[in-house]
Amino acid sequence: MTFLGVQARADLSALHRLCEQRGATVPLLAARAALTQLGAATGPVLKRGEGAWSGAGISSSLSLLSLLCKVNTSQGPETEGLRGPPRSAPPRNWTEAYEHLRAAVGAGFGEGSPQARAMDGGTVTAGAFTDLAARFHLNRFSVELPRPLGGAAAAGAGGFGAALEEALAGNVAGGTGGGSSRAGSAVYLVPSLFNHSCEPSVDVAFPGGTAAMELRARRDVAAGEELTISYLDSALPRAQRQEHLLKGYGFECRCPLCEEQRED
Ligand SMILES: [Zn+2]
Repeated sequence: MTFLGVQARADLSALHRLCEQRGATVPLLAARAALTQLGAATGPVLKRGEGAWSGAGISSSLSLLSLLCKVNTSQGPETEGLRGPPRSAPPRNWTEAYEHLRAAVGAGFGEGSPQARAMDGGTVTAGAFTDLAARFHLNRFSVELPRPLGGAAAAGAGGFGAALEEALAGNVAGGTGGGSSRAGSAVYLVPSLFNHSCEPSVDVAFPGGTAAMELRARRDVAAGEELTISYLDSALPRAQRQEHLLKGYGFECRCPLCEEQRED
């Protein structure tokens, strides 16, 4: 069964309302990925181990996600005993979103269905869901498209448009140029490997009016020099950049611009 087939049977309106009310976008991304996984629930048995999804077929895109960094919020038996610092509880938005998703799948497919079982003890447990959310949280990009002529409405991605646009305002990686609107969130494997600088060497853009990302050097780059992108609007004052990077990404920025603007 395809993702769309799963979505057609599982009524996600409660999940969407929750995310709209709280301006939360990450649970929507995680829900979409989880539904993709559920679409394979009737296929080959998939195994999840050590933070990675392995198995056959549909899981390949989720396996790729496992390569990405995640915020350290996972908890529960699936992650106990793994190395690393103490883990905090996942955000309430994520756990409540999972409960909505579980209820929708139970109502749409029936308790005891392969899909419901996959959520109770299979590949789409609460722990797996927050694991997905933790990766999306750190790695999502805002897709910025030119505003359509004669209208400010953004093209919605899968019906998420309005909620995403509001929530993402001023809070995303990628360009912040005028005249564009945020059309949604997406994850890109290779661009997710770039580190941040408030004075980046590479610009992120979506020049084609689609979600196809273009990475373009802003200046000459020396051989062997690390390529960087900006996770936020670099025109913000230093204190705001520092706060956003610490809260959103968990690091203190020591890029050349931040060092230059340091007040001491
Ligand atoms: Zn910086």
